[in-house]
Amino acid sequence: MTTKQQNTGSLHAISLSGGKDSTAMVLLMIERGMPIDCVISADTGMEFPEMYAHLKKLDDHLFRERGIHITTLRHPRGFEWLMFEEKKQKPRSLENRARLGITPYGNGWPGIRVRWCTGELKTHLINKEVNRLKQEKNAIHYVGIAADEAWRCKNDRYPLVEWGITEAQALRICYDRGFDFGGLYEIYHRASCWCCPFQRMDELRKLRQHHPELWTRLMELDNRARQQFGPGPLGQFKSNWSVARLEERFAGEERASGT
Ligand code: SF4
Repeated sequence: MTTKQQNTGSLHAISLSGGKDSTAMVLLMIERGMPIDCVISADTGMEFPEMYAHLKKLDDHLFRERGIHITTLRHPRGFEWLMFEEKKQKPRSLENRARLGITPYGNGWPGIRVRWCTGELKTHLINKEVNRLKQEKNAIHYVGIAADEAWRCKNDRYPLVEWGITEAQALRICYDRGFDFGGLYEIYHRASCWCCPFQRMDELRKLRQHHPELWTRLMELDNRARQQFGPGPLGQFKSNWSVARLEERFAGEERASGT
């Protein structure tokens, strides 16, 4: 328990995505001597290897500076189990699937209408733990939203917004302190799951180019999804695009440009 916690009776809990904004918030809160009692992060299991290395480095820093480690929360079964194996329970969903000839197992690719992954693998886990800490320890919850995204703020504490730090400045703050995310932000706009079907086309093109081993895994996931769920939304990586077709397209572009 920190001195501040003893003084105020509140526990100071940070939720950390691991991206530039929440990382900059943690680094600045350490530098500015703010109390930190726990740092909570949710691991989808599908982060870039560079992100896992970054989180390890940040954890080492946090432990050196404040003597605590990041608390990592994980769904007990993970992304692939949810995608392919979770047994559907609701009678309506079972009836629908039976009518369409779709297996009662698995959620398939996340889609705009059923974005199950964010809830199951991140927000439910974090919210449950934060709500517990709020109820049991009177926790103050710190969230790494940058000043240019202040519209996302609700009823927690948002130090980057309070300090007027934008997303671009947050990245600079991380770089200046030696946290470069293994170069992820030099390639991609975002640093979340490599298998995300909501990525822009250009991000997928870069995934194939810069992370061919993950691209191969993505093709395997998609082949399995199409086999299990067929051509409907559950088996569709992107509207009108399978990963195999994207592979053809990107390879064609490469041949045309002579690269
Ligand atoms: S990054 Fe994409 S795949 Fe990962 S949890 Fe978020 S929406 Fe789902």
